[in-house]
Amino acid sequence: MGRFQLICTGDSLMVTVQYNNSYKDDKNEADKSHKHADDIYGKLAEVVCKLKQVGYAPNTSVVLIDVDEDEKKDMVLLHSEKLALCYGLLRSNNGSPIHIIKNLWICEDCHNFMKLESKVFEREIVVRDRTRFHHYRDGLCSCKDYW
Ligand SMILES: [Zn+2]
Ligand SMILES: [Zn+2]
Repeated sequence: MGRFQLICTGDSLMVTVQYNNSYKDDKNEADKSHKHADDIYGKLAEVVCKLKQVGYAPNTSVVLIDVDEDEKKDMVLLHSEKLALCYGLLRSNNGSPIHIIKNLWICEDCHNFMKLESKVFEREIVVRDRTRFHHYRDGLCSCKDYW
């Protein structure tokens, strides 16, 4: 998990996600120091619920550490780009695209999550990860799932 930063750039909303090297620090930060954390988790629950109605299931194969299946699902759902997306949804009600910048690669589950979100919520999302842009619109990504 990372730190969120909101940047308003004209007509679009930017959410940047930055990582610390220490997992422990990240966890504390996400739990306590983000003043919008409760709102974000509430929004996440709502988004996940809606996406599940169209067939979303957390892909736990992206979790590489050895914990039980339920814990893996929670970990996948708390990936920073999902939280950043919810933050973006909370802070912009006008339908403008949500831009998310992260300094690591997006995982398969988040990629799928963004695609579904762009269809169900009819909201465009642009994710810039370490190597490329992913532009999600109407359930599809500009990378055509090759990244
Ligand atoms: Zn992910
Ligand atoms: Zn993509």
